[in-house]
Amino acid sequence: MDIAKLKDILQNAGVTGAGGAGFPSYAKLNKNADVVILNCAECEPLLKVHRQLLAVYASEIINTMSMITEVIGAKEFAVGIKKEYTEAVEAVKTEIKDYKNGRIHLLNEVYPSGDEVILTYDVTKRLVPPGGIPIDVGVIVYNVETVLNIYNAVKLGKNVTHKYVTVAGEVHKPQTVKVPIGTKFSTLLEFCGGKTVSDTALIQGGPMTGRKATENDTVTKTTNAVLVLPNEHYLINKRNQKVTMSVKRAMSACCQCKTCTEMCPRNLLGHPINPGDFMRSLTSDIANTNVLLNTQYCSQCGVCEMYACPQGLSPATLIGIYKSGLRKNNIKPEKLSAPQSAKEERNYRQIPMSRLIRRLDIVKYDVPAPLCDEGIECKKVKIYLSQSIGAPAVPCVEIGDAVKTGDKIADPKDAALSLALHSSINGTVTDITDKYILISSK
Ligand code: SF4
Ligand code: SF4
Repeated sequence: MDIAKLKDILQNAGVTGAGGAGFPSYAKLNKNADVVILNCAECEPLLKVHRQLLAVYASEIINTMSMITEVIGAKEFAVGIKKEYTEAVEAVKTEIKDYKNGRIHLLNEVYPSGDEVILTYDVTKRLVPPGGIPIDVGVIVYNVETVLNIYNAVKLGKNVTHKYVTVAGEVHKPQTVKVPIGTKFSTLLEFCGGKTVSDTALIQGGPMTGRKATENDTVTKTTNAVLVLPNEHYLINKRNQKVTMSVKRAMSACCQCKTCTEMCPRNLLGHPINPGDFMRSLTSDIANTNVLLNTQYCSQCGVCEMYACPQGLSPATLIGIYKSGLRKNNIKPEKLSAPQSAKEERNYRQIPMSRLIRRLDIVKYDVPAPLCDEGIECKKVKIYLSQSIGAPAVPCVEIGDAVKTGDKIADPKDAALSLALHSSINGTVTDITDKYILISSK
């Protein structure tokens, strides 16, 4: 197979990054890469998708990594996986010995080792330039579920219709469930035995970077977790805090200790992001333009806010708002030269997962969430036309059409980065808007 053929298969099967920003997988394929990394860091606490999929589907996933490596003409692939995921590590070790172009790289149990820029450095010792992406240093990164979807598309001719989601927190039966895309979160919670307390709030994604959600929200191709927490939990209070209050608190309580900067994972790689100086510029008359513009090099990992700041301030949230203001004004991050080296102190300033879990007050929720691979039955799905970075798909069905699981319901728009969409259940199209397609089996 050549690279153009593989790109075509992935675009038409609707394969996108299964988690994170949802970068279309076909668009990552690039002949300039010499290393392909499998991301099994899964560094957000409580999420348990990738390690379990890799333990079960190691043969398919390793074989697909080797195939991608050959198609793009890269030298090798590397599996970046935490030592603690022993079952998956053993499964990979068993499979990878048959591949001359593959190696395993064991990662420490620290946060945020799954950030692609950080993973690239840990696995290859190459420093991605600020404002750049891994391909700038010859690296492509795919996570485990994405590679499983690539296997399904290439080897089995299956389109992306389902997503694996960890449901954790205040539910009777925490699980990692295979679920049709477009399923309501309330259906997921019912499947997991229902809630254990009544006054709850939801987070879609991990406790560090996930955003607040409701039970009416639906699973998309990037939903990797739904966390159910008591409404008064620290993580919910943090997300409920008004921006004006965050600014006032910063003005009155930021003592300029710079712990946020000292612990910032991107700063430790030599990138020019400095949350401590940002807080000073934001809250005083001494605005430093460079510091403000450099917010564009923040990854939004949340370390400065959720772990580092002794005053409980919100640098990551405020930086996020500042960054989106820059974006709205069409100010884009300039790609800088890669740093010469990471900072030496990085070796002893990484955040152990066990301490992070204690700090976030989620020890009681850190329990197994076993894989349920049979898939939830769902009678109604709402499939959003935009499920990844890039142009939304264009519906190719009409209201009243009968569709089966895997049938195409929207074409990629004739523009870069758009992906096809497929029905995730057997049913009838009941509504089409400019945002979504509704399918019902009743
Ligand atoms: S969120 Fe905070 S710690 Fe993370 S990269 Fe941005 S400034 Fe650094
Ligand atoms: S860690 Fe908190 S108090 Fe210290 S400089 Fe950063 S924002 Fe200010």
